Amino acid sequence: MDIQGDRIVFRPASRLHRIVVGLSVLLIVAGCGRQRTDEKSVSSRTLWVMGTQASVTLPAPDAARIDEAADIVEAVFVDIERKLSLYRAASELTAINKAAGKKPVTVSPVTLNTVRLAYQYAQSTHGLFDPTVTPLLQRWHEAATRRSGIPDASDLAKALSLVDYRRIVIDAEASTVFLQRSGMVLDLGGIAKGKAADLAAATLKAKGYDAFLIDLGGDIRCAGAPADQPAWRVGVRNPFDTSQLLGVLHMQEFPAVTTSGNYERFIEINGKRFGHIIDPRNGKMAQDMAGVTVTAEDAAKADALSTALFVAGLEKAPEIIAHASPLEALLVPDRLPMEIWLTEGFKSAFEPNPEYRNAIRTLPGTPVFDQDMTTTGTCNHRSDPIKARMTSALLPLFSVDNNGRKEL
Ligand code: ADP
Ligand code: MG
Repeated sequence: MDIQGDRIVFRPASRLHRIVVGLSVLLIVAGCGRQRTDEKSVSSRTLWVMGTQASVTLPAPDAARIDEAADIVEAVFVDIERKLSLYRAASELTAINKAAGKKPVTVSPVTLNTVRLAYQYAQSTHGLFDPTVTPLLQRWHEAATRRSGIPDASDLAKALSLVDYRRIVIDAEASTVFLQRSGMVLDLGGIAKGKAADLAAATLKAKGYDAFLIDLGGDIRCAGAPADQPAWRVGVRNPFDTSQLLGVLHMQEFPAVTTSGNYERFIEINGKRFGHIIDPRNGKMAQDMAGVTVTAEDAAKADALSTALFVAGLEKAPEIIAHASPLEALLVPDRLPMEIWLTEGFKSAFEPNPEYRNAIRTLPGTPVFDQDMTTTGTCNHRSDPIKARMTSALLPLFSVDNNGRKEL
């Protein structure tokens, strides 16, 4: 595996384990180096946790509490990582997986809740979100290192037979989780970062913080707004050119936003780029979308639904969105020329980059929204588009310089 920036390119088969590890959002904590950003309008701390970069940001007037806030958030993330990591021998998730086909495992309330949520989103997305896809993902990762790039059909069929969220048995009273078939693997990678951001937000609120932005590797949860601004603003990157923003989402209606893409972490098979998301309907890598951004009332929902919509593709997306309502979405199919499909609600909170105005479409089933945000908005990307240094799909924009934009 080569890591280029935060891209992962698959190479020799013998490195499978590290490849799979590299693809999870739940990694062993790789040290907790911190970086400080104090700007006019905000104060920020960067953390390294759950195998990714996280940050906590407070409005400038609360700057004195930023270290305390960062400690609170970090403690929540570390706890979730310990319980829900797929790769920690001592995690509760590992205990569940080891006992697959054998016996139920008693788990802590946070694990139980996260598994229940994952199950609910699997149900409400008709299995497009399925937290048992790991055996398939492993077959594709192995195959990516081979010349054909395609898994053996019988291997794939065998793996597919182990993928079915309905075989996760949750006993809320006994606080146990049981995987009915031996060989099944529960992987909360499609929801755990969102859940962790939600828990961190709830903990901050309980301690009296009412304005903050938590970014856990692109899963964002916020409250309130920066000083003197109506809302937090988050840039959405162009999946075909991550140095550019598609536009800026104003976090007014919903406090959470998450992106699933094929460009942050991906595998290449015969020159085609795939994300790390499986289509549980057929066992293949999901390949219709380049990027899906979802904003919703909590980050766990946004996380699970961005993964599900990435699988659903454009045609099925309206049905999934209607079913999971309320949520708003931005979808970019993996084809050129680029199209940016927006739900009506997303459109009303989104300031598109004028460069891409012609690419904007309204998602079928959602009313057309005509207001021209670019004439009233605070950012103008045309003359000097934002060059992003980080490659996370979402980019919180903290302070507004005189051109209405700010690099991190
Ligand atoms: P990221 O990890 O980059 O935030 P996602 O939130 O979309 O991206 O989650 C992708 C992860 O979800 C994969 O690494 C894998 O662990 C898991 N996964 C892959 N396909 C599915 C699926 N169809 N349903 C649920 N989880 C999935
Ligand atoms: Mg997700």
